[in-house]
Amino acid sequence: MTEKQIQNAILRAFGTRPDLRIWRANVGVARIGRRVVRFGVPGQADITGILPDGRRIEIEVKSPDGRQSEDQANFQRMIERFGGLYVLARSVDDVRTAIGSAIPNMEAN
Ligand SMILES: [Mg+2]
Repeated sequence: MTEKQIQNAILRAFGTRPDLRIWRANVGVARIGRRVVRFGVPGQADITGILPDGRRIEIEVKSPDGRQSEDQANFQRMIERFGGLYVLARSVDDVRTAIGSAIPNMEAN
């Protein structure tokens, strides 16, 4: 699967659960009238959201041979330093496993 396909599978698998919220985090540049507007921060993950205990979740999606960039590794360190959950995911199962260990009594689904 491509990174995009994995990302869509993750959004489908977890996007409708009542016990957490995740959404795509857009990064890029757009021109609005005369203004150039930048979205996001360097290295931010592909998907962001919130866990039932209030912690932030960040999911960086990679294809099977994709590698995290230096900016992405720095973003991971920042999220973890503040107590957030960062997941480097190459499959839906990677996300399921990470959420399961972060929230032990959360219903596996
Ligand atoms: Mg990615």
